[in-house]
Amino acid sequence: MIIRARVVVTMDGPPIENGAVAISGNQIIDVGNFPEVSARHSGQEIVDLGEQVLLPGLINAHCHLDYTCLRGKISPGKSFADWIRAINAEKAKLSAQDYLASITEGFAEAKRFGTTTIANLTAFPELIPRIDPPIRTWWFAELIDVPSPERANELVDRAIGALKRARKSSGGIGLAPHALFTASTNLYRRCEENAQRENFLLTTHLAESREEMSMFHDSAGPLYEFMKEIGRDMSDCGDQTPLDRFLGTVRDSSTPKAFGARNDKKASGNAQEWIVAHLNELTESDFELLERSTRNSHVVHSPRSHDYFAHSAFAFERLRDLGFNICLGTDSLASNENLSLFAEMRAFRRGEPTVSPKKALEMVTVNGGRALGRPQILGRIRANYFAELIAIPCSGITDVFEEILAFDQPVRWIMVNGKT
Ligand SMILES: [Zn+2]
Repeated sequence: MIIRARVVVTMDGPPIENGAVAISGNQIIDVGNFPEVSARHSGQEIVDLGEQVLLPGLINAHCHLDYTCLRGKISPGKSFADWIRAINAEKAKLSAQDYLASITEGFAEAKRFGTTTIANLTAFPELIPRIDPPIRTWWFAELIDVPSPERANELVDRAIGALKRARKSSGGIGLAPHALFTASTNLYRRCEENAQRENFLLTTHLAESREEMSMFHDSAGPLYEFMKEIGRDMSDCGDQTPLDRFLGTVRDSSTPKAFGARNDKKASGNAQEWIVAHLNELTESDFELLERSTRNSHVVHSPRSHDYFAHSAFAFERLRDLGFNICLGTDSLASNENLSLFAEMRAFRRGEPTVSPKKALEMVTVNGGRALGRPQILGRIRANYFAELIAIPCSGITDVFEEILAFDQPVRWIMVNGKT
């Protein structure tokens, strides 16, 4: 099949006017201008999308579809700890059936907004085999062992059982110890060991809120009080930043660098890469640490959830200049209004107006593919990549990347895994 459009934005070179993409099965086999592609693949069915721009499907690098049904239910509250209390109260009202419906609704919404790949954290890995995602999905089992760290091994083992049953039907699987304040050192390490053995991805929430900083750094603040109240062992608080704590948690003597395993194998032994969500709260000493230890690692920024909580400014430029691969995610609808990555790109650029629309689009295509460990098959329009494409109307009046970022409708033409 050949798909023709007014412009093809490949994210692999300049946009192609009067472009075309040839598809076979679930793969792209050719891309270029229409006369050439159609000559090389004569006799193929031609789908002409007309005055549209064809681009790679979008990649949401951090989401919790479990909470799609909590849209608009929780206000940011006075503190992050208040918000956690509120979401816990809402969660207590939901049954397994409610979660299944919520996840299913979330998938449909993500797809409607042009997302063709999603990194989805679920607190209910046992539900995964009951869901048939309409888009490519990396399932991450989100794990919390506070206030019962003795359950860590059992939790991880059970999650892995459920993930393995889902492996065949998903894009990939991973483990997600929730955050340093809700997951024990043992839980993090157990996840790392298994990820290394089984080739799972790893993700976690890190240094998201000011309260997380004051909990670990000063043994103070609403999050500190809340976690103490629910029975967390607080002996790790008082003299370190969340980043210090993270690096102390995930690295052992054989793996001194949690960040940067692939580019620095000698120094890092078998260290696992982490996809880190947030990283809003960093001190100058943290930046010094990062300077020494970052290479080829991944950070997911969720601009609208970030604004909802009024977190400290995300240090985009500094992190980018340190070599982080920065992606965008929507986070959950308990702190966002919809699952549109177009809206996420616009929100990102409101905070970072000097970043070009093209660079913003890279954050939800190429960079997402890299974070998920599939830079050779996800996030671009190029031969051998997955046939995962979207098309949106194109007037040609302004820059094509500006036009893509301004798009705020449901996406009407979507191809996932070679199928529309
Ligand atoms: Zn999250």
